[in-house]
Amino acid sequence: MLAGMETRLWHPFANMAQVRETELVIERGEDVWVWDERGNRYLDACASLWYANVGHGRREIEEAVSAQFRKLESYATYGDLANEPANRLAARLAALSPLDDARIYFGLGGADAIDTAAKLARLYWSETGNPDRVHLIGRTRAYHGSHGIGTSIGGIPANASGFGPLVGETSIVDWSSPDALAAEIDAVDADRVAAFFMEPVIGAGGVYPPPDGYVEAVAEICKRSGVLLIVDSVICGFGRLGTWFGIERWDVSPDLIVFAKGVTSGYLPLGGVVVSSRVSEPFWSGGGTIFRHGQTYSGHPACCAAALANLDILEREQLVARGRELERPLFEALQPLASSSAVAEVRGGTGFLAAVELDPDLVRERPAAASELALETRRRGVIVRPLASGVAVSPPLTADQSHLDLLAAALADGVATLEAAAVS
Ligand code: PLP
Repeated sequence: MLAGMETRLWHPFANMAQVRETELVIERGEDVWVWDERGNRYLDACASLWYANVGHGRREIEEAVSAQFRKLESYATYGDLANEPANRLAARLAALSPLDDARIYFGLGGADAIDTAAKLARLYWSETGNPDRVHLIGRTRAYHGSHGIGTSIGGIPANASGFGPLVGETSIVDWSSPDALAAEIDAVDADRVAAFFMEPVIGAGGVYPPPDGYVEAVAEICKRSGVLLIVDSVICGFGRLGTWFGIERWDVSPDLIVFAKGVTSGYLPLGGVVVSSRVSEPFWSGGGTIFRHGQTYSGHPACCAAALANLDILEREQLVARGRELERPLFEALQPLASSSAVAEVRGGTGFLAAVELDPDLVRERPAAASELALETRRRGVIVRPLASGVAVSPPLTADQSHLDLLAAALADGVATLEAAAVS
């Protein structure tokens, strides 16, 4: 769209009064690069929205989707219906997952997978004779999508304000404190708590790797109190932390794992839940029972075909391990930014994602500082993701040192511009 022309597209998480005439229209992508409609090239340092793990423009995925379209574009999977790509993908993800004897439930993205996991957790307790176990616990700084339940258990207050009453029987505990979780379970009463939700590395909330020992400690608390441990690996999966489901880096055994984004690298929408045998058992054995929950496009064959081709690429090019190989180089490339007076800290080092946190005084004086930094960086040909008080990066897993150097240089220039503006 030309500058000055008003869009009709209502952008997610955007102030439309500000962006109605200033959209950046992305037209084309190839590997780590995207181009806007004017032909300007950018390094996609956030893999779109933390999802383009294999990079853009992979013909192989396009061909797999086209081949599926020629056979069967779509068919529902409700009741006893299935399709071959959905079956094949479920079997493959179950085998790749760290859970024994896993089952896979498919939806369309991260937020609906969070709703699925939460409802399944509550129904599990109801079906096993504990209908009072309904309480859901999330963490400060957490992001679990913008559907009803994800909004209610998310830990970014701005995302939950103004919508009136949210889902009841939910609470939020300090993101870094196992004691806070234990105290909350005691306060609510373990016999009323269904599940605890945890991102292995907090992503959209600002890239916060867990403190040493945190993941093991909360897993132990959940085990002791019977609370289901639900790992949200929507960002952390498919190589972002150097493993398939992100959580394998810690010696813990979750009850449910939520995935989306990197499962298709975003080529088509897909998300879902890996379900442990503990949770699936009452539904899959004996007389069973119906999980009265579904999305029209659950198990969509073209989306599953895209995921299968994406997994082929991740495996063949060993991109899952690459996430771990790249975590230090990324962290080290950005570390020099921390010496700027405009920067409070650089976070990262666990997985191929990082954040540059701006100085709190600067953000107080210039509330739009993070967006300004993202815009300055973009002017230098690199797209990063603005957060409330900093920017995040999570490049495609195909990136190399030259891309990290370009990213660091663009951010350094952007930070210097902010620094100069703050002084003047
Ligand atoms: N969970 C996490 C950790 C996420 O980062 C996101 C999205 O960024 C979601 C859930 C929601 O996913 P979606 O936007 O696909 O609904």
